[in-house]
Amino acid sequence: MLSKRVRQLTPSTTLAITAKAKALREEGQDIIGLGAGEPDFNTPEFIIQAAFEAAEAGDTKYTPSGGTVALKDAIIEKTRRDLWMPYERSEVMVASGAKHALSTLFQAILDPGDEVIVPAPYWVSYPEQIKLSDGIPVILETDESSRFKVTRELLEQHITPKTKALVLNSPSNPTGMVYSKEELEMVADVAIKHDLLVISDEIYEKLLYNGATHISIASLPEMRERTVIINGVSKSHAMTGWRIGYAIGPKEIISAMTNLASHSTSNPTSIAQAASVAAYAEGDAPVEAMRVIFEERLEKIYARLIEIEGLTCLKPEGAFYLFPHAKQAAEMCGFDNVDDWCTAVLSEAKVALIPGSGFGAPDYVRLSYATDPARVLEALDRIEGFITAHT
Ligand code: PLP
Repeated sequence: MLSKRVRQLTPSTTLAITAKAKALREEGQDIIGLGAGEPDFNTPEFIIQAAFEAAEAGDTKYTPSGGTVALKDAIIEKTRRDLWMPYERSEVMVASGAKHALSTLFQAILDPGDEVIVPAPYWVSYPEQIKLSDGIPVILETDESSRFKVTRELLEQHITPKTKALVLNSPSNPTGMVYSKEELEMVADVAIKHDLLVISDEIYEKLLYNGATHISIASLPEMRERTVIINGVSKSHAMTGWRIGYAIGPKEIISAMTNLASHSTSNPTSIAQAASVAAYAEGDAPVEAMRVIFEERLEKIYARLIEIEGLTCLKPEGAFYLFPHAKQAAEMCGFDNVDDWCTAVLSEAKVALIPGSGFGAPDYVRLSYATDPARVLEALDRIEGFITAHT
């Protein structure tokens, strides 16, 4: 009964380990989960209040498909403030989360056989969403020598006459790396030369550490017309459950995306849109309060992580993940792959790590510090104990 389209989907390794961790927890075991993909803070109170007020005021009906005028204007103002870039309402589409904005975008731009370059390590949903839109994800493997960023040589090697777009995610999930202006200029140069659309996923834009700065590739010369920015309130405002994200880009693409959404979701939740207007109107103070806490955690947790024999890790500059190389640790413990090592760490040390295989980097693991830092430190003690016990 199932379509070819869904049969080619790759099952999520993240979900597999999370499900196993949950089953063990239900048996009463003390499992520390390091898989969190969302801030552990509650949504700031003033945003919740704005949602209440919107609901009470009758803001409970369908809205325009691409979002309310109030939210589009708030996003335009935020983009002007942050990127110094003016956009019009017809260049903005509000979606039910950044993930929905991305899937709608791929559907709007891809014909069967079109290729999209996805640098690995990548966020798990990009290749699957591209496949669901009948496109071909072309995985470009980066490594630590370029701090997991694309190089001109790698890009040029992967471009074919079928290449339509390139996905860029800075700050990155899972690596936490951030592209510099020079690096973005190189990517822009290649995109212009080969007439590519750049899909710039900037969802972690506000979570930057140790002085790192975010630059949107859309702000570089000649790039506004070939970039779609993806962003949203999920990570910046601890609003993952509200499902509000957006796309900003060329009118023609935004209009096609809005049309598509009008036949699927109709519109993002009216109340969540009103809450997001309040979130953006407030400026960055509440976001900054959370960022500072993440930075303090990063410092402590990173320092402890690199003490562990068998794990090495580049220091992230953004997001809330660490992405250590774990192949040596796995081998020291007698495993020939990191997936099996993660399974054993979960069963014995009771720590749920996400294997890097799901992110296109099988020698790595992802651990999130969007959780109680004392528990993360305890998890690291357990991992170290596991490695010592098995070598
Ligand atoms: N893009 C990246 C890189 C992410 O890590 C995530 C969430 O994990 C998303 C997009 C999706 O965000 P949203 O919750 O707004 O759909």
